[in-house]
Amino acid sequence: MDCLFCKIINGEIPSNKVYEDELVYAFRDIEPQAPTHILIIPKQHIKSAAEIDESNSAVVAHIFEVAAKIAKQEGLDDGFRIVNNCGDIAGQTVKHLHFHLMGGREFGWPAG
Ligand code: AMP
Ligand code: ZN
Repeated sequence: MDCLFCKIINGEIPSNKVYEDELVYAFRDIEPQAPTHILIIPKQHIKSAAEIDESNSAVVAHIFEVAAKIAKQEGLDDGFRIVNNCGDIAGQTVKHLHFHLMGGREFGWPAG
């Protein structure tokens, strides 16, 4: 399968790894939009948040546990933002489910 993030998981494409276990992989975004900008992805190829159902949702809960752990490690004690872009209209450029963990600056709402 021609998927950038699957290639990162299996080491075909290098990445700056932050965390890994049997279910998930986390690495620094190549174009950081905040002082801390980490992508947390399931090792299982799930195309987007629109593909989450009862068969694969457990990994999403696990991703949020990992996000809290990484946020502590990164010293994001004042808070952080977790973002998922789903589909073209939301700006999803890589079609492998990923959550952006961002921190170290203030964030606007609803964008920025
Ligand atoms: P999205 O636009 O939500 O699909 O997010 C995709 C993210 O992947 C963007 O923030 C990119 O900067 C990031 N990205 C693309 N290629 C790489 C790569 N090789 N290593 C790390 N991050 C990447
Ligand atoms: Zn993939």
